[in-house]
Amino acid sequence: MRDLDSLPVADDLKDLPKVELHIHLSGSIPIELMMKLSGLSREEVIKKTVANEKINMFDFVNKLDFPNSLMQTKENLYLISCDLVERLAKENVVYAEVRLTPMLHMEKGLTYDDIIETVLEGLNSNPKVKVNLILCMMRGATTYMNAETLKYTIKYLNKGVCALDISGDDGLYPLRDYMKFFELAALEHVPYTIHAGGSNINDLYDALVLHTKRIGNGVKAVMDIDLLRIIYYKKILLELAPSNDVVLGQYEDIGMHPINFFLRNNFNICVNSNNSTVVNVDLNDEYEKLSKTFNFTIDDFKKMNLNAINSSFLSEKEKEVYRKYFE
Ligand SMILES: [Zn+2]
Repeated sequence: MRDLDSLPVADDLKDLPKVELHIHLSGSIPIELMMKLSGLSREEVIKKTVANEKINMFDFVNKLDFPNSLMQTKENLYLISCDLVERLAKENVVYAEVRLTPMLHMEKGLTYDDIIETVLEGLNSNPKVKVNLILCMMRGATTYMNAETLKYTIKYLNKGVCALDISGDDGLYPLRDYMKFFELAALEHVPYTIHAGGSNINDLYDALVLHTKRIGNGVKAVMDIDLLRIIYYKKILLELAPSNDVVLGQYEDIGMHPINFFLRNNFNICVNSNNSTVVNVDLNDEYEKLSKTFNFTIDDFKKMNLNAINSSFLSEKEKEVYRKYFE
């Protein structure tokens, strides 16, 4: 039985240094900033972007249309990126890997170079937080656009970009159709993490075929003992975001989420906010919810943050520096 007196209070959790390996820039713009950029009222912005009830993946992806519509100029991309890093600093995040899907920000003529360089400039504006970008291809996008994303991941690799991923509706578009891009990335020594196992178990097998070392989400693995064995023994990092899964209807409430099972059985997992505006949760809120629901202690959170650093796309030398926050 755990000693309830040793459970952390909200302030302890806020003060704890944190690592955020799975957050989408477009899904995490504060309501106030979207009001300012769009001129719309709070109610209108909330209606367009926040999931006030459980929604499916198709509707979830549609919730990102409005924030993406505001991310079409350098000025806005810079403001949005600076704002994110300020909030990460307030949450005591020391290292973050931020997801960006550049092809969704080209409606007004911005190029890959414009988008990546502007976002990196914004994300690097606060020396308290180190940030790298993960560039996402898109399920449902053309081969040309996805190949371009891979090309620019290679161009900016180790210059602010640390890896490749694929976002979008995994229920509609199976990973099987996009494996060639990750095979090419491997040939070019481009690291990757793969969004998989949110809605479909076959994607998890395909991600393992691609020798991925990290999976964005992956909760569906609990339904398949063979998958669990492989993920456990290969120490594949599951980038979990429990509140995000609840909004997507995967679980009735956070208490039903398998994160406790994964943690107690020593799986390689970490906690992330994923889309803080759509889901209406930041990393501090998520830590608090997990602590209240599962009695997670400071040591539990330190362990998951250490997992995150060890499986991050930082260099070995950089990992040494950040491990010290959690030992
Ligand atoms: Zn995600």
